[in-house]
Formats: sequence, structure tokens, C-alpha cells
Amino acid sequence: MAEKFDVIVVGAGMAGNAAAYTLAQAGLNVLQIERGETPGSKNVQGAILYADALEKIIPDFRDDAPLERHLIEQRVWILDDESYVGSNYRSEEFNREPYNRYTIIRAHFDQWFNKKARDAGALVLCETTVTNLLLDGKRVIGVATDRKGGEIYADCVILADGVNSLLAKKAGFHDEIKPRDVALAVKEIHFLPQETIESRFNIGEEEGVVIEMAGKITAGMMGTAFLYTNKESITLGIGCMLSDFKEQQVTPYQLLEKMKDHPAIRPLLAGSEMKEYAAHLIPEGGYHAMPQVYGDGWMIAGDAGMFVNGLHREGSNLAMTTGKLAAETLIELKEQGKAWNARSLARYQAKLDDSFVMKDLRKYRQAPAIFEKNPHFFTTYPELLNRAAHTLVKVDGVDKKSKERSIKSAFVEARSRLGLLGDAFKMWRAFQ
Ligand code: FAD
Repeated sequence: MAEKFDVIVVGAGMAGNAAAYTLAQAGLNVLQIERGETPGSKNVQGAILYADALEKIIPDFRDDAPLERHLIEQRVWILDDESYVGSNYRSEEFNREPYNRYTIIRAHFDQWFNKKARDAGALVLCETTVTNLLLDGKRVIGVATDRKGGEIYADCVILADGVNSLLAKKAGFHDEIKPRDVALAVKEIHFLPQETIESRFNIGEEEGVVIEMAGKITAGMMGTAFLYTNKESITLGIGCMLSDFKEQQVTPYQLLEKMKDHPAIRPLLAGSEMKEYAAHLIPEGGYHAMPQVYGDGWMIAGDAGMFVNGLHREGSNLAMTTGKLAAETLIELKEQGKAWNARSLARYQAKLDDSFVMKDLRKYRQAPAIFEKNPHFFTTYPELLNRAAHTLVKVDGVDKKSKERSIKSAFVEARSRLGLLGDAFKMWRAFQ
């Protein structure tokens, strides 16, 4: 007789590891299947780890998790071709334990997280791809894998297989993911001596800085860029909507090269050795693009369910939280002796709705459509802001009133009075 588990978790990323660990801790019989050679070997992230989500799963994770630097400073830059207008937030509060955000290297971190799931009792099968879900009518009863005789049965399957979940699509749980609902991001890791990073970014040992960027570096496409400090390396990347890349015939690589050559970024990378390059999709369609995430014998967690807050660059924490909530739903229902069907698993949706995950995604539900339809937010305004800053900062004998007038007329000329009002309203709606 074929082997049967309580739960099969597909994927050993943030969502899968959170689900497998939580289920195994509660004593359920869990099989986790990962196509990569090791957990994390296929995964791409910036990567900032938000401690809160992990703390709720493994409270003492700081004792042995592979963490790079805790973040004490957040910089936001709006760039045009030669300059940027920026803001910084740096606080000693972020230097007091327990730290709130860390940079991590996913390949190391995912292996650590997966070991926690294994130590808790989950059986983990790597180098194995789930090729199909096994169905009995509408009910998922297991998975088919690329291993010989590779059909495995379970009472529930958690799909934590990342963005563009082919399994859910093949089973008809959702449509093909649309290019306007995913960003394509590329990133590089540049190595530098630890002391160089610390002096260049004005930080101490173990302290880190994040620079979030938007503006002309995305060449008018809807997207953002980032630069994070690790212990002995800097990660930088840029991502824009896949539909924009298709339309504009620009490659992500071209954008990244241009970004590295920006006069504000080039000196931060000087003398570094680039050792890693990766490209990956990010599901940024938001609330309106979310699929159904539960049914008879199945649940979806993490990127596979579009659980990403693109505006705040949060994905891993939503993945961990949804993986944990999916697991907790199953644990509770089992304790109450209830079957895992579409009716009972609706409790997962209720838990999601009650969490920051859905509250945040609902809050920003208008943002993707607004930014998609208004590319001038990524071109005209960065340019106007930078010109305004230049006019104000430059001391050239022109009186300040005249400078203000010229800044105002530049804004009106570029967008008209009505356009400016409309843009302010759109911005307000995007963040409501
Ligand atoms: P993944 O981490 O993608 O894991 C899915 C796993 O499933 C993979 O291991 C994959 O190999 C496996 N898998 C897929 N299909 C199968 C199959 N058929 N059979 C078996 N295994 C399978 N988030 C943040 O919070 N902070 C950041 O700084 C940040 N930066 C980012 C930067 C970039 C460039 C990118 C691309 C993303 C970033 N994100 C960030 C988002 C974050 O990486 C994701 O939200 C998060 O990794 C989602 O976790 P997940 O477990 O759902 O998916």
C-alpha cells in the first residue's frame, strides 16, 4: 500500500518551512518535498528578514540562525539620471536587542530553517519535483512526483511552491499568472571587506543599512530597486513588472547595469567583486490578483498565493505567516476531530483576514492599478523633485521667492494644475 501522510508540504522556502515546522512540532506526520538540491538552492530574495514573523514560529531563532547584519538605517532615494532626493531614518532603538530586521543569505537561511522542521520531525525529500496533484473528484488526495513510482498520499497538501505555482494552475485552482501581476527582479551580490562596508555606510560591526530606490532607474517602468548590506557583501537589485519589460523591450540586465553606473551608486560598489547573479519573479498583483487559497484537501501559502506587499517590500514575512496559519488551521481542526474539506478549511481564510497579511493587502488594493496606469510617477516626478532640490540647494544669486516660483511653474508645466490635483488624489487612493 502507498505511503500516506497527514500533510504534504510542497516547497522548502519560507512558507513551506514555516508550515512543515509548525505541523511537525504539533506531532503531525509531515512530508516536505523540495525540487532543489538543498532547501534554498532555488530561492532568491534581497534579502531582508523581518524578525517578528519568525519570532512567532521560532522564538529563540537568534541563538543559531545564520543572520548577516541587523538593520539600523533605512534610506529612501528618488533618483533621476544624475542625482537623488532622499530621506534617511536611523535610530539607536534599532540597535537594541531584540533586533527587528536583519539581512540574510537565503541559501544559508533556508537550510537552517529546514533543519528546524526536520529536527521537529518532518520528513524532507529534496531533489524531488512534484509534477501533479492527485485528485479524487475535486479533492486533493496526494501528489505525483518525478521519482519512480512517485505517488504519495496525504489528507491535505499545502502548496508552498512559490510564485507561478504550476501545480495549482494545472489542477485548475487558478488561471495562468498575468505578466502585469508579477515583477521580474534581478540581483547581484558584490563582495567587499567587512571594514570597507562599515566605513562606506557609516555603520559598526553587525549593523546594516537598507537603501530603497525608485525613479528614473526603472526607465519609466513600474518598479523599484534596492541595496542591502550583508557582512562581507552588498546585495543590489532592481525589479519591474513583467508586462512593462515585454512592452518596452528592455532587459532587466540592462537596467541593473545602468543602475550600477549611477553616480550615487557606483562609489558604493567600487572595488567589489561580483560573485552571484540571480533573476526571479515576485508576485506583486496584490489583493485583486489573489487566487482562492484553500479547497478540499489543499491550501496555498506564500508567493504561490500572491501574498506579497510590494509597496513595503515584504514577502518572506507574509510567506512565513501564511505557512504558519495554514498549519495552525489543520492542527486546530484535527484536535476538534473535523475533516479537512473546503468548508472547514475556510477557517484559514478567516485567520488570514484577521492578520496583518490581508489587512495590508486590502489597504493597498488600489495601488498596483494606479501605478500601472500612471507611469509619470516613475519618470516625471522623480525628475521634477530632483530639479527642485537642485534649484533650492544651488546658491546662484537668484532670490528664494523666484526659485519657488520657477519650481512651481516647472510642476504646472509638466502636469498642469488639474493633473497635479489628480495625481495627489491618486497617491492618496493608492495608500488608502
Ligand atoms: P519560495 O521562497 O520561492 O519557495 C518555494 C519553494 O518551492 C522553492 O524552494 C522551490 O524550489 C520549491 N518548489 C517550487 N515548485 C516545486 C515543485 N513542483 N516541487 C517541489 N518543490 C517546488 N521578501 C522580503 O520579505 N524581504 C526582501 O528583502 C525581499 N527581497 C526580494 C528580492 C528579490 C529579488 C525577490 C525575487 C524577492 C524578494 N522578496 C523579499 C520576496 C520573498 O523572496 C518571497 O516572498 C519569499 O521567498 C516567498 O517564500 P515562498 O516560500 O512562498 O516561496
